[in-house]
Amino acid sequence: MESSGVERAGSLFTEFAVEPRCEACLSTAIEHHPTSRKSGSVIYECSVCGLHGMATRPKLEALAEFATTYDRDMYADWVDITRAGQLDHDHAEVLDRIESLVGGSEGRSIFDVGAGAGSFLSMARDRGFHPTGNDLSQGAVDLAGESGIELLLGDLSEIDDAGEHDVATLWCVLAHVPDGDQLLKDVFDVLKPGGLMYLQTPRWSAMDTMGMKAHDWTRGRMTKITDRRLAMHHMVLHTADSIRAQLERLGFEVVAVEPHVRYTLTTASYLGSLGFGETWQQRLAKPIDGLLNRDLFFRNVLDVYARRPLDA
Ligand SMILES: [Zn+2]
Repeated sequence: MESSGVERAGSLFTEFAVEPRCEACLSTAIEHHPTSRKSGSVIYECSVCGLHGMATRPKLEALAEFATTYDRDMYADWVDITRAGQLDHDHAEVLDRIESLVGGSEGRSIFDVGAGAGSFLSMARDRGFHPTGNDLSQGAVDLAGESGIELLLGDLSEIDDAGEHDVATLWCVLAHVPDGDQLLKDVFDVLKPGGLMYLQTPRWSAMDTMGMKAHDWTRGRMTKITDRRLAMHHMVLHTADSIRAQLERLGFEVVAVEPHVRYTLTTASYLGSLGFGETWQQRLAKPIDGLLNRDLFFRNVLDVYARRPLDA
């Protein structure tokens, strides 16, 4: 890929400062960590609910513009480095749970926000759900279309499906948007009263605590982990307390919040993205896969189930 991506990022990623309060629980008891010397980003931490987030972030329009640069083949390349078997396993596990909470799948509609290549919706359709969803990226819409999943192109706030769906799902979408409250309000609106939301979002884990210590002790010089875990593709890392606080404040009834070990990328790709060279990728991938398969690696995501109340 030529350098136009970088130029685009420079011109489109207009940053704005988040208000000096926690975006999950609204506490003003927040602390800013030293500026990363590598990326220039600043992370804030809420001492009440434990949320960590980027203190500056791009506007949604900038992200939408960036998403349009992803064509079908670029999207397919990304899908190639994911752990396909793992994703199918995760999707099935979540659909089992959703079915048990909404009483089955036949005749029920499911809206997947940021549906990507549509693999989750394909599985939902095979189980009897009526699948719909959206994505900001034309490449994703094209790829999903190849498996017969029709996605709407655009942001959720532009889609007029108010109060229509039994289930709404968000696989790692919340952390990608600059304004989480707005996204969750839009999700609330597409659900029927009594409807169920499932979301997966990256979790503040022991690995992040270690990374943050290195970051703080070196005054922003050792930022390999913090820059990888909190950046423009992951603007917040939630704790169980912080996601619960945010959802309850917005009117959801929280059903369950559970930490999981779930790595979407192949271990070698993930290590590469953390800055490990190929030799170390090869040395570390096997032992880490062993831990992953036994559910012993860092619990890096939260699974959250919450309802729109029947009377709201
Ligand atoms: Zn907070």
